[in-house]
Amino acid sequence: MPRQIRIVLVETSHPGNIGAAARAMKTMCLERLLLVNPVEFPHSEASARASGATDILERAQVLASLDEALAGCALVAGTSARQRALGPAPLTPRDCVRQLMSVSPAQDVAVVFGRERTGLTNEETDRCHFLLQIPANPDYGSLNLAAAVQVVAYEFMLAKQGMHTPAGQAPAYATSDEMEGLYAHLEQAARDSGFLDPENPKHLMRRLRNLLNRARPEPSEVNILRGLLNALQVRRGNPRRKA
Ligand code: SAH
Repeated sequence: MPRQIRIVLVETSHPGNIGAAARAMKTMCLERLLLVNPVEFPHSEASARASGATDILERAQVLASLDEALAGCALVAGTSARQRALGPAPLTPRDCVRQLMSVSPAQDVAVVFGRERTGLTNEETDRCHFLLQIPANPDYGSLNLAAAVQVVAYEFMLAKQGMHTPAGQAPAYATSDEMEGLYAHLEQAARDSGFLDPENPKHLMRRLRNLLNRARPEPSEVNILRGLLNALQVRRGNPRRKA
C-alpha cells in the first residue's frame, strides 16, 4: 500500500474549521483526515465549509487518542505557532515536509494540528519527530487552523511534484506504536532499577523521547534495545519484566 499522508486535528472546537481543513486538503490532493476527539463532528457547519470536499469528511476517522491516530506512522511533525522549551528546533513547512517525504514510500507520515485556543500540549509534541512552524508576523503569528493546514498541504503538493525517491533506498523507521512500546519498556526498566524515582521523575522520559526522536531508530534497532532491556531485567530477576 503506498504511503499515506495523515492530517491529524486534535480536539478541534469549531466544526467549520474541520470542513475548511478538508477543503484545503482536497485542493492539494491530500485525502486522509483523522480527528482526535473533535468537540462537534459530524456537523452541518463542517459540511458547508468543506464545499466540494465532503468526501474527505465522510472518510475522516474519528479517534479517541493521538496514539491511535499515529499508529503505524514512521515520522510525525507537530505544528505550533510558538517555540517549545524542550524539544526539536522548529522547521519551516518546506524543510519539514522534505524530511517527512524522505522516509520509505511504504510508510505513513503525519502532521498534527492543535486546538484553536491552546494548540498542542507538550505531551503531544513529545510524540513528534519535528516541530513545524509557519513563519509569520512575530506580533501576530497564530494562523487560523485551516489556513495552517492549507500552507502545509501546499508544501506536500510541491514536494510530491519533485519526488523520485526509489523505494529501496529510503530508510524505514520504527513506527509510533513501536516507539511507544519502547518508551513504556524503558520507563518500567528505569523504575525497576531505581534510576527513575516515580516521586521525582523530572524530565527523564521527555528527554529520552527527544533523544530517540532525533535518532529515528529502525525497527531492528528498537528490537535490540528492547532485547537488551529484557536481558538486564532478567538478570535482576525482576518478575515485572515486560515481554
Ligand atoms: N494559541 C495557540 C494557537 C493555536 S492555533 C498556540 O499558541 O499554539 C491552532 C493550530 O493552528 C495550532 O495548534 C497549529 O496546529 C496551527 N498553527 C497556527 N499558527 C501556526 C504557525 N504559525 N505555525 C504552525 N502551525 C500553526
